[in-house]
Formats: sequence, C-alpha cells, structure tokens
Amino acid sequence: MEDEYLGKYIDVFSVKPLKEGFGATTAYIAYALDKNEIDGAIVVKADENWEPKAIVARNSDDLRASIGTKWVITPMVDAIIDALKVERLEKVAIIGTPCQCRVIRDIKEYPMQLGDVINRIKLVIGLFCMGSFTQDGFKTMVERKFGITLPEIKNAEIRSDKFIIRLINGKIIEESLENVKKDVKFACLFCDDFTARSADISFGNAGSESGWRSVIVRDEYAYSLLQSASRAGYLKMKKLNPEGVNEIIRLSKEKMERAKRNESLI
Ligand code: SF4
Repeated sequence: MEDEYLGKYIDVFSVKPLKEGFGATTAYIAYALDKNEIDGAIVVKADENWEPKAIVARNSDDLRASIGTKWVITPMVDAIIDALKVERLEKVAIIGTPCQCRVIRDIKEYPMQLGDVINRIKLVIGLFCMGSFTQDGFKTMVERKFGITLPEIKNAEIRSDKFIIRLINGKIIEESLENVKKDVKFACLFCDDFTARSADISFGNAGSESGWRSVIVRDEYAYSLLQSASRAGYLKMKKLNPEGVNEIIRLSKEKMERAKRNESLI
C-alpha cells in the first residue's frame, strides 16, 4: 500500500513490549539479536547530560544503555564504519530518525567509498520525529522554559499534542508541543517526514495508547521479525485502530505543511 502521509507500507500495528525493562523498539531489536537475525545494532545512548553517542550494541545488555528517546541529534557515521569495517559485522540494524534513515537508504543506493559492505545493513528502523535539538539547544530550552537541568530528567516523550518530561524525582512536566517545536533545530523546520518513510519499519508513540507504540511495517523481512518477536513473547501486537492511524496521518500532514510553509518563506 502507499499513502501520501505514511509512505509505502504493508500494515500498521500497535505493540506493547513484554521484555522486562525494554521499550517496544528495543524489545524488537533484542529479539533480532538474541536469535542471530542480526549481529549488531547501531543505537544511541546518552549520558546524564544528554550527550549522545552512537554505539554498536552486540547483545541485549548493550541495548539497555540505549532505552528511551534521545531528543538530541546524533552523528552515526563513525559507528556505522566501526560496525561494518572494523568489527566486520555481517548483519547490522540501524535505528534512526527519518532523516538518518533517508541517508542510509541513499548510501545503499550510491555506496561510493563504503562499497559492498553497506549491504550488510539488513534492517533500517525509523523513529517518528517532529524535530530534534542540538544538545546546547535542549539544555537551554529545559533550563529556560522549565527551570530544570538535564541530569534531573529521567525521560521525555511526545503524547498527543504534549511534550512530557518525567524527572528522576517523580515530578512530571507537560508543555504544549506547539511551544516546544519553536526550539527544534533550524533544519527540522523544513523536514516533511514524520514516520521515516525510508525505513523498513517505523516506531512511534503517536496513535497508540499509553504503554503501547505504533508500528508501520514497510518490508516483508521486518514484518516477519515483528511476528516472530510477538510469538516469542518479546512483545504483544494488535492492529492499530483507524483513530490511531488517523492520528499518525494528522501529525504527518502537519509536519508536511510546516515544511511547505517554511520553504515558502525563504
Ligand atoms: S525533524 Fe527531520 S531533520 Fe529534524 S531530526 Fe527529525 S527527521 Fe531529522
């Protein structure tokens, strides 16, 4: 199927992680690692100051360091070269924002210096994205808007039209998404891809109830892995209801319109 806002896809699901301590995306990757479907996954971990670093996860323990959305864009090229050329992994998954998935797809089509090793990337996993921050930008925003410091934050997520920050002390801060969007990186204001249309499979909060994640499946292999992970008890899956799909479409459309509006201004 093909949709103007969702891109090419096979089906849309809602999934709930069942693996202790893992999110939906990491439970899916953990299954692929545990069953040797992949021998490494390039994921992002962040320290207490939200300084992001792309790492090559070789097993579930490595993956634990990457759980939770990072709101700071992370260069991945070094980790990709490390995985493919230094560690010489044969079956690699990459998890990234829609823009990063697009770059991977382009490199796969035009490998240049990377040559055939790029074909060892077996799975491109996208994350829904409305925008990200530079590390300095994120730091300034939370200090200025909410009066908190980065080490105080446990996690942050978008739910419906809210940006929700959970602090280590248990406090929850909610801000309208509209207010937070003003602080994203300049380039994000021109980006029209919410659901990672170039990925093999895309994960995100939008459209699903709390504790569940929406999943757009675009590739047969990615689909078979999702079904196997569900059968193996790593996650529970069900079809996403029409209201959920419409919510994803609404946000995709909003992002496309924002990009068009901003392009017309320059
Ligand atoms: S909004 Fe677009 S450019 Fe910005 S991080 Fe997300 S995918 Fe990349």
